[in-house]
Formats: sequence, structure tokens, C-alpha cells
Amino acid sequence: MARNLDPKCKQCRREGEKLFLKGEKCFTDKCAIERRNYPPGQHGQKKGRLSDYGGQLREKQKIRKIYGILESQFRNIYKSADQQRGVTGDNLLQLLESRLDNVAYHMGFGSSRSEARQIVRHNCILVNGKRVNIPAYLVKTGDTIEITKNAKDQLRIKASIEAADRRNFPAWIDMNVKEMKGIFKSKPERSELPATINESLVVELYSK
Ligand code: SF4
Repeated sequence: MARNLDPKCKQCRREGEKLFLKGEKCFTDKCAIERRNYPPGQHGQKKGRLSDYGGQLREKQKIRKIYGILESQFRNIYKSADQQRGVTGDNLLQLLESRLDNVAYHMGFGSSRSEARQIVRHNCILVNGKRVNIPAYLVKTGDTIEITKNAKDQLRIKASIEAADRRNFPAWIDMNVKEMKGIFKSKPERSELPATINESLVVELYSK
């Protein structure tokens, strides 16, 4: 499957903020944004003003990078969000947040979304007791997500659950750390998601 192979820290520097793509390193002072918060490349330190269109485009790219989604897939998710009742921007974020790889990340099964996606692909996850290895699978309210019996001994999974536990799990997840199992209690409210995301710019971009 196609994926974005650009170096992760470079992706954050391009967007000018932490996108938390590299697991534990993102929480340390080794983070590239802490050291060099300007875009990569020869002209990275030149200041320039973005047009309205440029701002909308950058915001869309940023959200795609956070969730690790390619353009065509992102457009399809947007279409579904637009067809649903309610506010399109909120629907978009809720659809992204309901993906199995994202829920697995919030439960600490991977230290980053890309690691959580790998865990899903490697058949290490059960949804309501059944093996699911599709990262884009949409988790429903009340679903139980857990690590398979065989994968429970994997040190990297144990370490990332412990690290997520130290940082506290989001309110919409009910996590049983000992059993490596969590319940997706509800879709997150907009107020529970990062204020640095401006999904309305994506709506403006795609409404043109
Ligand atoms: Fe982004 Fe993490 Fe790299 Fe910092 S360490 S620049 S947050 S990927």
C-alpha cells in the first residue's frame, strides 16, 4: 500500500508544529521542532505570507499527515463527512478519530499512529473478540479493542501502553491497562480534540 515516505520530523517542520509522528521522541527535547522550528530546505528560513488558498492547502496537508492518510483516501473520507448530517468539519474529524489505527494509537498499542497501524496490519488486534487487520476499519461506540493473546508479550506494545498510561488516556476511551484492552466509549467531541487543527479551512478548500 502506498504511504508517505518523507522523513517524519521534516513533515512537522514543513507544517511548523509538532504532529507527534515519532512516538516517544516527540515528548523529548530531541524533537526537531524544539530545535529548528522552520521549514526544511534552502529557503526554509525566509518569511513569506501565505495566501488564503495556501493556508487552506497547508491545513489539509497537516491533517493528512497527522492521521497518516494519502490524498485520495482523505478526499473519500471528506465526501462521507459531507454526506452525513451535522457539521462537515466535525464529521471529518470524528471519522478520522474512529479509524482503528487511530483508536489503537490512543489506547497506547503503538507509540505513534504509524506504529499502531503496523500493529493492526500484523494481526495483533481484536475488535469485539474478532481479529481485524484493516487500519481504516471504523470503530463504533461501545466496541472493545484488545491485543491478541500472542501479541501480549511484545515488549514494544507493553512499553507504549505504559507510556500512554503515564500521559493519561483520552476521556472517550475506557482503558484496562493490565488486560491490554479498551472500550471506545464515544466519538470525541470537537472540544476534546486539539485546538491547533482548523478543519473549517479544509471545508473551505473542498467547497470551491
Ligand atoms: Fe514531529 Fe515528533 Fe519529529 Fe518532533 S520528534 S518533529 S513532533 S515527528
